[in-house]
Amino acid sequence: MTAHETDKYVYDFAEGNKDLKDLLGGKGANLAEMTNLGLPVPPGFTITTGACQAYLATGREPDGLAGQIEAHLEALERAMGRRLGDPQDPLLVSVRSGARFSMPGMMETVLNVGLNDRSVVGLSDQAGQNDRFAWDSYRRLIQMFGKTVCEVPGEEFEHALDEAKRAKGTHDDLDLDADDLRGLVETYKKIFAKHTGREFPQEPREQLDLAIRAVFESWNAERAILYRRQERIPADLGTAVNVVAMVFGNLGPDSGTGVAFTRDPGSGAQGIYGDYLANAQGEDVVAGIRNTVPLQELERLDKTSYDQLLDIMARLEGHYQDLCDIEFTIERGKLWMLQTRVGKRTAAAAFVIAGQLVDEGLIDLDEALHRVNGAQLAQLMFPRFQLDHEFEAVAQGIGASPGAASGAVVFTSARAVELAAEGKSVILVRRETNPDDLNGMIAAQGILTARGGKTSHAAVVARGMGKTCVSGADGIEVNVPAKRFTVGGHTVSEGDVVSIDGTTGKVYLGEVPVTPSEVVQYFEGTLDPERTDDALVRAVHRIMTHADARRRLAVRTNADTGADAARARRFGAEGIGLCRTEHMFLGDRRELVERLILAATDAERTDALAALLPLQRQDFVEIFREMAGLPVTVRLIDPPLHEFLPPLEQLAVNVAVAQERGEDVAKEEALLAAVRRMHEENPMLGLRGVRLGLVIPGLFAMQVRAIAEAAVAVTRDGGTACPEIMVPLVGAVQELETVRAEAEKIIAEVVGDSGVEVLIGTMIEVPRAALTAGQIAEAAQFFSFGTNDLTQMGWGFSRDDVEGAFFWRYLELGIFGISPFESIDRDGVGRLIRIAAEEGRAARPGLKLGVCGEHGGDPDSVHFFHEVGLDYVSCSPFRVPVARLEAGRAAIETTGSDSR
Ligand code: PEP
Ligand code: MG
Repeated sequence: MTAHETDKYVYDFAEGNKDLKDLLGGKGANLAEMTNLGLPVPPGFTITTGACQAYLATGREPDGLAGQIEAHLEALERAMGRRLGDPQDPLLVSVRSGARFSMPGMMETVLNVGLNDRSVVGLSDQAGQNDRFAWDSYRRLIQMFGKTVCEVPGEEFEHALDEAKRAKGTHDDLDLDADDLRGLVETYKKIFAKHTGREFPQEPREQLDLAIRAVFESWNAERAILYRRQERIPADLGTAVNVVAMVFGNLGPDSGTGVAFTRDPGSGAQGIYGDYLANAQGEDVVAGIRNTVPLQELERLDKTSYDQLLDIMARLEGHYQDLCDIEFTIERGKLWMLQTRVGKRTAAAAFVIAGQLVDEGLIDLDEALHRVNGAQLAQLMFPRFQLDHEFEAVAQGIGASPGAASGAVVFTSARAVELAAEGKSVILVRRETNPDDLNGMIAAQGILTARGGKTSHAAVVARGMGKTCVSGADGIEVNVPAKRFTVGGHTVSEGDVVSIDGTTGKVYLGEVPVTPSEVVQYFEGTLDPERTDDALVRAVHRIMTHADARRRLAVRTNADTGADAARARRFGAEGIGLCRTEHMFLGDRRELVERLILAATDAERTDALAALLPLQRQDFVEIFREMAGLPVTVRLIDPPLHEFLPPLEQLAVNVAVAQERGEDVAKEEALLAAVRRMHEENPMLGLRGVRLGLVIPGLFAMQVRAIAEAAVAVTRDGGTACPEIMVPLVGAVQELETVRAEAEKIIAEVVGDSGVEVLIGTMIEVPRAALTAGQIAEAAQFFSFGTNDLTQMGWGFSRDDVEGAFFWRYLELGIFGISPFESIDRDGVGRLIRIAAEEGRAARPGLKLGVCGEHGGDPDSVHFFHEVGLDYVSCSPFRVPVARLEAGRAAIETTGSDSR
C-alpha cells in the first residue's frame, strides 16, 4: 500500500462541516453543514480539492480515489434503496463542482448521471409512467455530458432542440412530448458520436468517472483561469466535486426549482427574495433560459413547501449570521435543499446588511467592519444617472448590479473587447450571457440582457466584478447576426449609445447625465446621517465612525490646491501628506519658469525666482488656511525642468519654419538650445528632485522661503500652520544635509519668534535611500515613502510605459496578480519599506513615517502599511474614506478580534 492510498479523498455529507471549505469546497462544506443541521439535503458525498490537485498535478486520479468513490457510492445506493444504472429503478446522481471560493458558472456540472437506454425506462416507471420526464432527463444528460465532458459544441444540441420545437410548431420546451424527446435523444446520440467518434457511454460508472474528471479539468478551463485572475483567487486550490442523489424539479406542475436570498442582495432590504420556476431543473433558473416568477408566488402554488422554505431560510440566517443564498428543488411537493452559502451582495447591500445584523444583535461592530471593504465603498462613491423628463426609459429589466453606465451597444464579446481597446465605452447586449462572454463583460462598461433574473449568469458575474448590469429586460429583442436590438418600436444598432441603470433596471436611449452618490453627499457633509432615512448612508456613517475609532493609521491626502485640500478635509483627511509644488510652475507662470531656465546670469535667475516667490507664497497660504492646524507636507519641486518647456521636436520645427520666413527667432533659438542641453535619455533617472535643488542655485531656497513666509502670514492672521518640508529623490544623506543646512538658515530668518515650527524630512523613493535609512534618519525629521518611484526603481519598470506595454503578459504568466504600481509588492518593494522603517526608527526613535505614493489609497496596501507600523497613509481626496475604512479593518484584523 502506498502512502497515497491512505489519503482520505471522499467525505460523506455527514462527515463535513462549513469550516472545511479548503478541503470540501464551499458547496460541499455547506451541504455537509445543512445535512448536520438536519435539513432536507439529498444524500451524497464530496471528493476533496486535494484529489483534484493530485489529478491536475499528475494527469491521473490519485491512488485510492476509485475505491473510495466505490465505497461511498455503495453507501449512497443503500441510503437511497436504488442502484446506479439499475434498469428497473435507477439511482441518478448529479456531479457538481465546488471550489473554496464561489466561481459562478465557471466550472462544470453534469446532471442525471446514471441514465442509459435501459434505465430511462425504469426512470419512467419510477416517475409514475412519466415517459416525457424520463426522456427529457436523458436528453439533458447527453447534452450536458456531451458539452462539458466531451467538448461537443453546445450549439449543435441547441439547434437540434430548436428544430424539434419548430417541427412541433412551438417555442416552449414543455410542448415536446415523450415521442418528440425520444427522437431528440436519438439525434443527440448521433451528434455525440459524430464529434467524439464513439457511442454515448452506457455504463453508469464510466459516466460518473468521466464527469468527475471533467469537473477536475474545468478548474483549468480558460474562462475559470480568467475569472480567478479577475477575482484574485489563487490558481492552485483546485475544486472539490459533489456527487449528489438527483431530485427532480421537472416531474410536473407540483415540482419546480428556485433560488432564494434571505435579504435583498441588491439593496440589503429585509424580506424574501428569489426566483421560482415550476416544472424545471436547476440549471434552467441559473442559466436564465426561461423567465422565472418571484419566489412569493410559491406561497400560492405550494404553501407547505413555501412555509417550510421560509423556516429553513430563517434558520440558516441565524446559523450563518449573514445573508444566505439558497438553491432548492421541490419534487412532487417535497422540498430539498441543494445548496446554501453566505450570499454575494452588492456594495450597498454589504453595508446595509452589516448594519442590520448589528441592530439584530447577531454581530458586533468589529464584525460589521470586517464584512465590508474599501473596494465596495469606492463603488458606492460612483455617480448615478440624473434623470429628467427628457429621458424616458425604453425598457425595464432587473437592476442586477448597481451603477450607471452609458456606452455604444455591442452584441458580441469580441466586439466589446475590440472597441474597449480603442478606448470606447461599450454596453454588451446579449439575450443572456454565458461563461464564454467573460472577456466582453470585463471590457464593457455595463451589461444588458433580455433574459434572466437576479441570479442569472450575467447578474452574478457582474455583481462580483462591481460592473453595472441590467438583466431580464424582456421587452428587448436581440438580433445578433443583424447587430441590432428592437424595443418598443425603436431599433438600436451596434454603435448606438444607450444608458443602463443597474439599480432601477431601466434602459435609456442615448447618454444620460449623471449625479453624485448619496454616500459622497454624506462625506461632503450635505446629507446628515442622523436625519436621512437612507439606510445606506446610516450604515456607512455607523461603520465609518467605528473604523475611525479603531484605526491606528492616520489618513492624510495628496492635494496641491486649496479646493482639493478642502474637499479632502470634508472626506476626513487629517492633513496633507503630499503637496506637489510642480503645478505651481505651470499655466501663466510658465513664462517665469522659462526665464528661470534660460537665465544667462545670476541676476536674471534671481529676478525670475523673486517673481515666483509671492505666487508660491500665496499658494501655500491658501492651503495652510484650508488645513487649519493640520500638518501639511510640501514637497520641493521634483520633475526635470525641461518638462516645463515645449517639446524638442515642436520647438525645432517652429524655429526652422520661422527661420525660413526670415523672422527674428533669437528667443526661440535660445529656448531650443536650452531644451537640447537639458535633453536626457532617461529623464526619470536624471536631473530631478533633490538634484535640481543642488544644481540650480536659489530654486529650493525660494520654495522654502515661500513656505515659511506663508506659515508666518497665516499664524499672524490668527491661524495655525504646520508645514513639513519634504525633499524628493534623496539617495544619500549628504544630499539631504546640504539642502537642510540652507533651508534651516532661511527658516530661522523668516520664522523668527512667530512660533511657527517647520519640520524638514525626506521622501524615501530611491532604493538606496531605503537601504541607508539609518544614516538618512539622522538628518530627517520624517520619512514619506514615495512608492511610485520606489516601485519604478525597485523593479526597474518605467512607471509611464510598462503598464500599457507588457503588464498584460506578466499578469497572464502570473508573475504578479496585480500591477505593483497599483498594490504594493510586499516581498520586494515592501521589504525596502520595512528595512527603512526599522533602521530609520532605530536611528531616530519616534521618527514619523508615512506613505504618499498611489498605494496610500489602495485597500490591500493600507493593510501592509499598518503592519509595518507607519504613522499615516496619504492618498487622493476621493480615496480618503476608503483608506479610513481599510485602516480600521487592518486594526481589527491585527488585534484578532474578528469573529468570523
Ligand atoms: C512617489 O514617487 O511615490 C511620489 C509620491 O512622487 P511622484 O509620484 O510625484 O513621483
Ligand atoms: Mg516620486
